[in-house]
Amino acid sequence: MSEIKSIAVIGAGTMGAGIALTAASAGVRAYQVDVNAEQLDRAKKYHAKTLSRNVEKGRMTQEQADSAQGLISYHTSMAESKDAHFAIEAATEQFEVKTKIFGEMLKVYGDHVVLATNTSSISITSLAATIDVAAPRVIGMHFFNPVPVMKLVEVINGLETATTVTGITMELAKKLGKTPVPANDRAGFVSNRVLMPMINEAFYAWMEGVAEPEDIDEIMKLGMAHPMGPLRLADLIGLDVCHDIMMVLHTELGQDKYFPCPKLRQLVRAGHLGDKTGRGVYDYSKS
Ligand code: NAD
Repeated sequence: MSEIKSIAVIGAGTMGAGIALTAASAGVRAYQVDVNAEQLDRAKKYHAKTLSRNVEKGRMTQEQADSAQGLISYHTSMAESKDAHFAIEAATEQFEVKTKIFGEMLKVYGDHVVLATNTSSISITSLAATIDVAAPRVIGMHFFNPVPVMKLVEVINGLETATTVTGITMELAKKLGKTPVPANDRAGFVSNRVLMPMINEAFYAWMEGVAEPEDIDEIMKLGMAHPMGPLRLADLIGLDVCHDIMMVLHTELGQDKYFPCPKLRQLVRAGHLGDKTGRGVYDYSKS
């Protein structure tokens, strides 16, 4: 495959919706796929709102916004995206969910199509092994939240990933205006191996009464020059996503220090997942 002109994005949540919008804004056709029609609807509203805000702020013209919106289509069936040149899975951070999707991707897309995953922590080699014959086409393409804003894409080869596949993925990341940086296939790669234990520790600091969430975040912002505090960031990422990543780190690295903090587990069990549910560490219902 020479130039990537279309991508399929499997999953229309926080990340999938952002990846589709970023692709379309760069002139790449995006098939947005999700099993949940409500999520597709939410993604569509997010696309319309973000594009119109971009026009208001003078970041793009109305024509560019219309053209980007016209490049995104929405599907509950992956089969409808079969003509995509490149496929990226951005669904729930659970191995069983992803392996099921990869099994379907193998059947739907042509045998030249790269099968990428936006996983935050799951082993690329393990995912690739579940579709053995296509393992050389599997690669980690890890975007950051919010995707339209964040420049980094961590690119992770599995044991069998073909060099050409790495090259195609790096090129696509650049075409989307991102900076690809390689990392090795270890749990959490670089970003979440370092970030998630810090977030988890912030939950412990809150649980143990070291300070209130606002003060923990303010201290980390002012003292470490972080653009937002770890608890605010956890809400942005999604507390369920943080929890799932900690579980992967715990299982793969085998140390108690990676076990998710009880305070984080409790909020996830209550369904307070952060921005996406309107309540997490903080309450967003009034804002
Ligand atoms: P999310 O919970 O917002 O969305 C997940 C989506 O996957 C949902 O819309 C769900 O309906 C969909 N889904 C589940 N099973 C599916 C299936 N079989 N087929 C199609 N869609 C399916 O999650 P998210 O935050 O967008 O995370 C998605 C992936 O991106 C995860 O692997 C996560 O670790 C990774 N990631 C997340 C962030 C972040 O900040 N949230 C950052 C980088 C990477």
